[in-house]
Amino acid sequence: MLKHQKSNKPTTASELRAHAEDRLRYKPETNAVLSYSKDELLRLNHELSVHQIELEMQADELRYSSDLLALSNADLEASFSQYADLYEFAPSGYLTLALDSTILQVNLTATKMFGVSRSLLKGNRFITFVSVADQATITKMIADVFLTTEHQFCEVTLISDENHFPGLHHTFSGHTIRIDATLSPDSTECRAIIIDITESKKAAIAALELSEERHSSLFKHMLNGIAYCKMIYSDGRPVDFLYEQVNLRFETQTGLKNVEGKKFSEIIAGTPDPNTELLELYGRVAASGKPERFEVYIDAMKMWFEGSAYTLQSDHFVAIFDNITERKLAELALKKLSVTVEQNPSMVVITDAHGAIEFVNASFTETTGYTLEDVKGKNPRLFKSGITPKALYDELWQTILSGNVWRGELQNTKNNGELYWESEVISPVLDTDGKIINLVGIKQDITAQKRLLSELSVAKEKVKEAELLKAAFMANISHELRSPVSGILGFSELLKSPDLSKEELLEYNDLIFKSGERMLHLINDLVDYSRIEAGESMLQISTTSVNQVMSDIAAFFTHEVDRQKLRISFTAGLPDSKSIIDTDGSKLHQILTNLIQNAIKFTTSGAIEFGYTEKNKMLHFYVRDSGIGIPLAMQVKIFERFRQVDNKLTQHYKGSGLGLSISKAYVELLGGTIRVESEEGKGSTFIFTLPYNPIHNAVTNPNETLSAAKDSVLRTQHSALSSTILIVEDDDASRYLLQKMLKNESMNILYANNGREGVDMVEDHPEIKLVLMDLKMPIMNGFEATKLIKQKHPELPIIAQSAFSSLEVRRKASEAGCSALISKPIKKDELLEKMHEMLEKKPELHLW
Ligand code: ADP
Repeated sequence: MLKHQKSNKPTTASELRAHAEDRLRYKPETNAVLSYSKDELLRLNHELSVHQIELEMQADELRYSSDLLALSNADLEASFSQYADLYEFAPSGYLTLALDSTILQVNLTATKMFGVSRSLLKGNRFITFVSVADQATITKMIADVFLTTEHQFCEVTLISDENHFPGLHHTFSGHTIRIDATLSPDSTECRAIIIDITESKKAAIAALELSEERHSSLFKHMLNGIAYCKMIYSDGRPVDFLYEQVNLRFETQTGLKNVEGKKFSEIIAGTPDPNTELLELYGRVAASGKPERFEVYIDAMKMWFEGSAYTLQSDHFVAIFDNITERKLAELALKKLSVTVEQNPSMVVITDAHGAIEFVNASFTETTGYTLEDVKGKNPRLFKSGITPKALYDELWQTILSGNVWRGELQNTKNNGELYWESEVISPVLDTDGKIINLVGIKQDITAQKRLLSELSVAKEKVKEAELLKAAFMANISHELRSPVSGILGFSELLKSPDLSKEELLEYNDLIFKSGERMLHLINDLVDYSRIEAGESMLQISTTSVNQVMSDIAAFFTHEVDRQKLRISFTAGLPDSKSIIDTDGSKLHQILTNLIQNAIKFTTSGAIEFGYTEKNKMLHFYVRDSGIGIPLAMQVKIFERFRQVDNKLTQHYKGSGLGLSISKAYVELLGGTIRVESEEGKGSTFIFTLPYNPIHNAVTNPNETLSAAKDSVLRTQHSALSSTILIVEDDDASRYLLQKMLKNESMNILYANNGREGVDMVEDHPEIKLVLMDLKMPIMNGFEATKLIKQKHPELPIIAQSAFSSLEVRRKASEAGCSALISKPIKKDELLEKMHEMLEKKPELHLW
């Protein structure tokens, strides 16, 4: 409801206007509206729009009231004046416009904004006050208001036209205003509210400019490469893209220049098939709008990139990326290195600066048995064997801590406790300040090498020793040969003297004989030794009476022992019947002979005892003396060839240094072992074993068991023979010796110089009862001749003689038909005994 107030206000419109203009003049606070913000202005505008509508409604009401209710003029005017004030002094300008923009009404605020008095404004067209470009905007807006009857708005810039309105001060010149227009209720005019938005627009433009500047500076200065691109499709598939815009870094990151406006395929020349992985990714992003990260290798560029792709616009994408080629290559190099380290055949151990293990490779685990889990965080002292001297570790740490590389060899322990040798290189890894950050140890297991080296040096020592031994042996042998030879020659010379007494003659003769025997002994040793060395020493197993061998040997040495003023005795460990075994009797004989000869040689007083006992299916033989004894250090060595104890006590004893090695070889061939127990100055006991395989019911042939002793000289007296025999021999001296040996036998001796002659002689002389056949002869050898003779005269005994009585020779002689073989130098007694056997008793007996 309107309140009607009495007032003395002017009643006519012109009076009212003049009155309002006055008021405005005295109302400077209305200018405050100009300092309002855009939001405030909008709010005020809204308020005023509401007020305006309210005013219009009230005006209608007033009119209606005055017409219908005939209110007093005074009341109406009072009310009207109140709303007129609101209209005139509103913070926005109000205009009422005709379709052609003619200003019909204008409030005070609007006149101030235009800087033109109301009288000048009214009747003029609004478009006259705006720039030419904006005139059409206003015209269109007003037309739209009338056309659509809906609210329209636009923004235009005011101008002042000094010429058109001379003398006017136009404060708002160049200001931007917003015009909101609505059609009047009766559709005859258009009402416009004008707000000055110059300041807020400026602020908005400034903000936009700032933001744009920031973005473009970001785009320009970002360290990543940025490319704004348009995707190119073919049949719906992304096949290429176009660089629309790139930043400065794009060039540094890719090395590509002037790419804007060009296609990817054009830029990366020589790649008809551009990187599909990349294209697919960009295509996906451009199509879906979903950003994606990528890490991609572009083969044509030989470069790695990492980044992300976004979309701002459809079919477009922005790629923000970094060239990570260097890092990638470093990573790959590192990967290569780590594979190299992991797969290295050398052991690799890496620790931190304090020695805590960080890494061990497969080879380390393989060699030591320690896995990375076992040793991680632990100190390598875990592997210490305790054998490597502390000084070496001190040196190691000193070297490493001073930043140097240490090289050396250590003995460490494996997980299973086993010791091993390693050759190691330990290098400190320094940071840029020279501070140690890691220690890298590269090691090799050199245990096998070490063992080989030590074996090699032992072998070398042995070779050296063997060479020395051989040299000593050669010197010894030449001495051993020379002495008897010079004895033989010397005494033979003396024998020539005409005035020799019978005693002297016998003595010289004895000395010559002994020298010969000594030589023979040496030669026999050498032959046996070379047979053993050549692996030719074969066994000839026969039924042997061990007790018989023992008593034969005792008998053989009695004479010599007597001469040396020693005693000899033997003890048989078994009764005769149980002492018969299958063995090589000859070798057993030789072993015992060697040991007893040594015992006699190295004993000056006392007794030699020998014998055997049976224990655990073995015969334990012993030869004990009370001689000089053997130093402990030599007790094993003397069984090696050429070994002789070299000291004051032994220096005047003779020998080849072969006897014990031959004995040892024979004992072992027969299935036993040999050793010595001895104390220096007190004597020695040599002990050897042989398997005991008794032959209980054996009917022993004394000749067989004796065969082993056949090499020894049997001092048997033989009755004289009276038969014709044939000697087939090419060597004069040998023939002569035989002749002399047989001179007391009443024999008719025929001679042949070679096998051929021998065969003929047998044919020509049927009275021949026995043939002594040398084996090595010119024209026809003894084997051939024997065969031919035996073909016609199988009963005729043929005794072969040879300086080479190797097994091979014996076998061949036997095959050819020889009844027996005696070795040269021929011993008279042995020869006679064999001849007697052949001629008198058992000419058919083959003595093998
Ligand atoms: P040889 O006696 O010909 O030198 P052997 O092989 O038979 O060669 O013996 C080797 C060495 O063993 C002898 O030189 C001697 O030093 C020592 N030896 C052997 N038997 C005895 C022993 N019964 N008493 C002391 N030393 C001995």
